[in-house]
Amino acid sequence: MSMNRRQFVAAAGSVALLPLVGCSTKPDSQHVVVIGGGFGGSAVAKYLKKYQPSLSVTLIEPKTSYVTCPGSNWHFADLVSMEQITFNYEGLKKRGIQVIHDSVTAIDDKAHQVTLAGGQKLSYSKLVVSPGIDFKWGVIEGVTQANAEKIPHAWQAGSQTLLLKKQIETMKQGGTFVMIAPPNPYRCPPGPYERVGMVAQYFKKHNPKAKIIVLDPKDKFSKQGLFVEAWQDLYGDMVEWTGVNDGGKVSKVDVNSMTVYAEAGVIKADVINAIPPQKAGALAFTAGLTNETGFCPVNPTTFESTLKKDIYVIGDAAIAGAMPKSAHSAVSHAKMTAAAVVNALTGKTAFSTINANTCYSLVSDKYAISIVGVYSVQDGKIGEIKGSGGVSPAKADADFRAMEAVYAKGWYSSITQDVWGA
Ligand SMILES: Cc1cc2nc3c(=O)[nH]c(=O)nc-3n(C[C@H](O)[C@H](O)[C@H](O)COP(=O)(O)OP(=O)(O)OC[C@H]3O[C@@H](n4cnc5c(N)ncnc54)[C@H](O)[C@@H]3O)c2cc1C
Repeated sequence: MSMNRRQFVAAAGSVALLPLVGCSTKPDSQHVVVIGGGFGGSAVAKYLKKYQPSLSVTLIEPKTSYVTCPGSNWHFADLVSMEQITFNYEGLKKRGIQVIHDSVTAIDDKAHQVTLAGGQKLSYSKLVVSPGIDFKWGVIEGVTQANAEKIPHAWQAGSQTLLLKKQIETMKQGGTFVMIAPPNPYRCPPGPYERVGMVAQYFKKHNPKAKIIVLDPKDKFSKQGLFVEAWQDLYGDMVEWTGVNDGGKVSKVDVNSMTVYAEAGVIKADVINAIPPQKAGALAFTAGLTNETGFCPVNPTTFESTLKKDIYVIGDAAIAGAMPKSAHSAVSHAKMTAAAVVNALTGKTAFSTINANTCYSLVSDKYAISIVGVYSVQDGKIGEIKGSGGVSPAKADADFRAMEAVYAKGWYSSITQDVWGA
């Protein structure tokens, strides 16, 4: 019996991603500390406790509620409220995980100890770090942290999402929205282009003569053919994408005159969504977990840092070979890492792992496209299993696209329920 793409990914998610691990209910003196309560950190905390209920697990995250980036683009088209994409840590606490709302300022890998901003010190047997991304400010002149209040990135969901949403709503009729897309590697490869569709859906209803210009330092992007087909079908000539070969690289933004200086020319904008180049979250740098790429090298089987023993790095901050930086990937890393940590603590050996990723993108409320991949360790690196994945078909009919939009919302509900549900 042959499996289609979706069945294969489902199988990878349900079977291969749940390796056998040691499981004891005796009280455990070993303590695992997890830093970062986003997708990767929250999921690893949950699965550590699930695989080894006796283990003492502490999650450290400064925020008391977490706004997911997945779904945040949908807010621009009024498809979800901010409340619908905000989660708290009560579900994790009910599982017996200690949650401390503070930031880690230092990691002492020799002493196996972390220091919190509030002064508290915690000892760990194993440490899992999932700090997400940070921005490389100033690579484009004018795209600075201070100016993010005028030209929001909205690439960490929350107040930045609200700010960009307000600018979209108050943009003058027939105005110009300019997106400066980031270079590789960055969180959520299809994310900027999903955003274009969501902003276009809003404009089509409320500001039909508006223009969306995407300036891109890349020559291609994820699901490009499908996105371009959808933009044309749904929004006519509202969207214009300029890649690097046609002058999409931006050298400067003047926030006072709202002018963007690209190789293709000088553009006067009404709203600028400048998404800067990215690197691992700041803590990864202070803890010495990064290499020259600005991200964290890890053992592809266990996600243990190759630079510091007993510290595991997962999610966007990790160098995970062919896997894209996504919430789905982060949760996949988390499940593998939880198993690897429990195995290491119980004296079992590491195993070969299968990871998976799925990214749905809405282009309108009834039109979505997707990309999936299943990954294994090949020649010491995480590579995509040949023939395992793919993208939605081109020229599919409206019912197919509408069904994928239903799947997109289902994906969101199930992953957030998996990570933060009680
Ligand atoms: C617009 C947009 C849309 C997206 N859509 C999708 C999608 O549809 N599907 C998908 O799979 N992915 C999507 N993503 C990508 C996804 O959001 C990320 O890949 C995912 O959040 C990565 O998880 P993480 O745990 O690495 O980082 P995060 O989720 O960012 O979590 C990091 C956490 O670490 C905390 N932290 C940082 N430093 C410290 C410290 N010193 N001490 C304590 N805590 C700390 C932060 O407060 C944060 O809560 C999207 C991203 C964007 C921007």
